[in-house]
Parts: sequence; structure tokens; C-alpha cells
Amino acid sequence: MNWSENIAKLRPSATIAVSTLAKKLAAEGRDIVNLSAGEPDFPTPPGICDAAVEGVRQGKTRYTPTGGTPELRKAAAEYMTEDVAYPADPARVVVSAGAKQSLFNACFCLFGPGDEVLIGAPYWTSYPEMVTLARAEPVLAWGSEERDFLLTPAELDAAATPASKGLIISTPSNPTGAVYSKTELAAVAAWAKSRGIVLICDEIYREIYYGDEGDRAPGALDLDPDAVGELVVTNGMSKAFAMTGWRVGFSYTSAALAGKMSAFQSHVSLNAATPSQVAALEGLTRGDAGAADKATMLEAFRRRRDLVARLFDELLPRCAYVMPQGAFYLYFRVDHAFDDQVKSSSDVCTRILEEAGVAIVPGVAFGDERYARMSTASSDEEIEEGVRRMAKVLG
Ligand code: PMP
Ligand code: GLU
Repeated sequence: MNWSENIAKLRPSATIAVSTLAKKLAAEGRDIVNLSAGEPDFPTPPGICDAAVEGVRQGKTRYTPTGGTPELRKAAAEYMTEDVAYPADPARVVVSAGAKQSLFNACFCLFGPGDEVLIGAPYWTSYPEMVTLARAEPVLAWGSEERDFLLTPAELDAAATPASKGLIISTPSNPTGAVYSKTELAAVAAWAKSRGIVLICDEIYREIYYGDEGDRAPGALDLDPDAVGELVVTNGMSKAFAMTGWRVGFSYTSAALAGKMSAFQSHVSLNAATPSQVAALEGLTRGDAGAADKATMLEAFRRRRDLVARLFDELLPRCAYVMPQGAFYLYFRVDHAFDDQVKSSSDVCTRILEEAGVAIVPGVAFGDERYARMSTASSDEEIEEGVRRMAKVLG
């Protein structure tokens, strides 16, 4: 069987692959601490689940418009544009089956053969694959390690060519947890505008932020619209609302591009699951109850961030790490463990899994062999146990 050129370079998601293996080993009876995929360990808040169940009972089980129910598009538009100059216009929003689909919609509608797409590196593992599936060329743009890999216009200049059509970044970043300040983000957006490059800003971790309490990380929609060119912002319910399995994400862009993304989605998957949209609407509109749930989760994520940093300082002083300002990962160096047998981040992570029973994701999944990533969206006990076990192999 000859597969299509469309998938000539396709590789399955490395983050999902490691977590699937970890779950399989645990099901076989192995004692595994799974710190691989970034998935909140909290259950979806009961109020959100109840709304979905009630919605199903009321018959909200049919197709909706492709881009989502009018109520959810409006709520998502308001959620993404609260206190900013961009309009809360539902016509600019497309609701999709996860932010993953939002990002793919954008890549497929914007890029094609002959186009290059800059990707801030280290990158979330799916970005290069999405660009490649659109038959465009991913080009990595590296920030400096001293600046936690955040990009500057000079670094973007070095990576750009006349074929560059887009730039994809995440802030807060997966895998590093680094966060662009508003000024840094404005510089990147102005650079993209000056080159006619579309900026795709993945803000799925926006609310998982360790700045001042109650604040969200700066986002691209906070900027002056006149200083920003074509923009796609993606967000969703998976992380801050603990709703990974419901599969609801959304994008905010120009009404013209939103129309194209919606037309594309109408052929590929149509609407995000209707009961999930009911749940998402409840999640976005439950006011004080929602804020209280988020505050509880955020307090835990912040405490775990501090815990993991303290444990690394104490037990793994040779593993330099990026101090996360957002998201729920720790990105740390493992290259001191390289030897004759262990030559890559995958080798290190395999050794850690085999010898210590801890599942983490090798840096190669994010473009850098020197690093590995652990999730801190697990209980304090699991994090402590995981780091102590890793220290026996890496320490
Ligand atoms: N972007 C980033 C950076 C992520 O880590 C994830 C997590 N899966 C996603 C997008 C997609 O999230 P989802 O499809 O669950 O909304
Ligand atoms: N985004 C999470 C991660 O990076 C979940 C897995 C995935 O969607 O790739 O681990």
C-alpha cells in the first residue's frame, strides 16, 4: 500500500505516545509515576458536568452550526476579549473539537506548498506536524536559553525568509512555561506585521499563570489592534477548566479567516460535540462559582511549581531548568546523563522509565535533545515521588 504524500512525514504525537505507554505499563501492574502528558488531575467541576447532563436530557443532542452554538460563540468571544480593544464579535470565533483542531484549521487554511512557517522553539510537539500536514515547511526559530527561549525580532529575522508566511508561538509556553511580557509580545507582533506574516498565538495556558494572583498571562489580544497584523488566537476548555476529554477549543481571528476555517471544518468534522458545547458554555458563564474552581486549581498548580523547583534545586542540581511562569510543566536539561549507551533525550527518558518507573517526555518531542519535560499537573505526592526516583538515575 502506498500512502499519500500528505502523510509522508507524519509521526504520531510523542506526548500522547509516552502517556499511552505509561498507562499501559501501569495497567500491566508496573508501579509507574506518570508525569508525561499535560492533563489537569482535577475532575471537571460538577456544575459543568451537571449542565451537560441536563442539556442531553433536554435534547441538546443534535448538530449545531459548524462554528458552535450562537451562545457559545458569543461567550467564547467575550472570554477572549474581556477588557481589550478587539471586539467581542462571535463572527470572529470558531468553536472546534479542541484547540488542537483550531490550530490545525488555521494551518490548513493559511499555509500550503512553498510556504514556510516559523515555529518558536522549543515548540509544542504538534505544531511542526500540523504545518507539514498542510504541505508547508516548518522552520524553527530559536530564542536564547538565557531568555528562557522567548523570541526577539532579531532572532526572528535570522530565521525568516521571503517564503515565511506564518509564525506560531505559545504563551505561556508548552514545554518551557515561559511567558511573554506584553512588551515582548508587542515586539513579536509588530515584527510579524512588518513582514506580512500571520501570527498564530496559542494561549491555551493563559489562565495558568504565576504572575500576580488573579491575573492572566499577557495575550496577543491585549495589544493595540493597529499594531498587529493578521492574527489567530487559540484557546479552549482543556486546561483552565479541567475539560480535556470534552474536546472544546476555540479560535479568534478576522471574520474572513473564521469563515474559511468554519467552511473547512464543515467538511472535516462539523461542530464540536453538542453536549460538550453545553458544558463549555456553562464553564464560561458560571461567574463566581467558576472563578472559585479555577482559583482552587491554580493554587495547586502554583504550589506544585514551587515544590518541583525546590526538589530540583535540592535533589537534581545538575539539571538546569526553566523556572515556569505559567502552564504546568518543568523543562529541564538531561544531557549531563549522556554516555556511551545513553546518547539522546529519548535514551535518558527510556532509562528513567525502565529503572525508576517514571514517565516523562524527551526533549526531542519539542525540538531539543538536551532537555526533557515533566508535567506538574499531578498530585504533590506523585511529583515528589517522581522527582526522588528520577534523582536516583540522574542525580
Ligand atoms: N496547545 C498546547 C500548547 C497544548 O499543550 C495543548 C494540549 N493538548 C493544546 C494546544 C491542545 O489542547 P486541546 O486540543 O485539548 O484543546
Ligand atoms: N498538550 C498536552 C501535552 O503536551 C497533552 C497531550 C497533547 O495533546 O499532545 O502533553
